[in-house]
Amino acid sequence: MPCCSVPRCSNAGGHRFPTREDTRKKWIVAIRRLDSRTKKLWQPGPSARVCSAHFVEADYCDDGNAERKLLRDGAVPTIFPFGRSAKEGKEEQSASIMIHLKIFVLTTSTRIAVIN
Ligand SMILES: [Zn+2]
Repeated sequence: MPCCSVPRCSNAGGHRFPTREDTRKKWIVAIRRLDSRTKKLWQPGPSARVCSAHFVEADYCDDGNAERKLLRDGAVPTIFPFGRSAKEGKEEQSASIMIHLKIFVLTTSTRIAVIN
């Protein structure tokens, strides 16, 4: 059985990637996996899976069959128990600082333009 595609998750099996293009893209973005070769978002192959650990109860159809749970149409994995690494968190922080800086520069230069 293929392993779960979520980085740092080693559970076997799980749900196949959806065939619907929009939902499939949401899954790819949600699991935040990068292709180590291209450094771009990883693309799932035909046997790629995402295990049930990344879905909430509400993502499943309530058909009373506990053995084989079916995902709802458009359900996207949202639970990533391993969280972000400290490095990723730092990068996100500096990115938001850059946005604040840009806004500051923009508002400052607008004010100067008005004065002149
Ligand atoms: Zn998993």
